[in-house]
Amino acid sequence: MNFRFLVLLALALAIGTPVSADESSKPTSEAKASDPLRALLVTGGCCHDYPRQAEIITKGMNERIGRIEWTVVNYGTERTGELAVYANPNWAAEYDIVVHNECYGGVTDPAVIQRIVEGHAKAGVPAIAVHCSMHSYRAAENADLWRALLGVTSTYHEKAKRSLAVVPVMPEHPILKGFPETWNTPNGELYIIERTWPATEVLATAYSTETEKDQPVAWVNEHQGVRVFATTLGHHNVTMESPEWLNMVALGMQWAMEKPKQ
Ligand SMILES: [Zn+2]
Repeated sequence: MNFRFLVLLALALAIGTPVSADESSKPTSEAKASDPLRALLVTGGCCHDYPRQAEIITKGMNERIGRIEWTVVNYGTERTGELAVYANPNWAAEYDIVVHNECYGGVTDPAVIQRIVEGHAKAGVPAIAVHCSMHSYRAAENADLWRALLGVTSTYHEKAKRSLAVVPVMPEHPILKGFPETWNTPNGELYIIERTWPATEVLATAYSTETEKDQPVAWVNEHQGVRVFATTLGHHNVTMESPEWLNMVALGMQWAMEKPKQ
């Protein structure tokens, strides 16, 4: 037994290793608190700069929430694709939260939509949905499964790209902490919301000059035990890079991961 071995042995005893399988499998609140959050970002598809947006989201959330272990999947620039991440019915189970910033309006396979929604519900994993996620899967025969999770129905947006005046309608909601009375986005593409679903609570709106109505741009929903925060803001990178957007989405992630009060 040499000195080096003794030092290693002493170190092993001091840090209490090894632990039995039983002990190691018991989650403790201490272990939980120090573990990084495991987040999945599903991105890609048509019409937006998803590689850059993935950087903006992951960096912006890490700066605001702390240590997050991100898994990012991006299936290219087409409206459709295989979306391999959703192939396993239990695809969501290993994550604490899933951020959907995807634009797959051409994916119409009903089995995919069913697995996406059931994956969230089975694992109780909360969802964040951004911009074109609201228009993804819209041509599928069972698109309403996805819309029930999102909390809205939307199939089109305003023609003009422009700055949007975003106004809180639930300024006391924790997700809007620190949000200005009006946020004039640097640029924008306003989604027209044709229906809000029964459990949806609209947090903020922007006036549509094309429909001459206020349109929800941020809301929360709860569906089959899954908390959802969604915003249609986020067509342009410059909007996403704004502190107003990043703060709201970070608070949305934190709210969504809290257990709903029974
Ligand atoms: Zn867009």
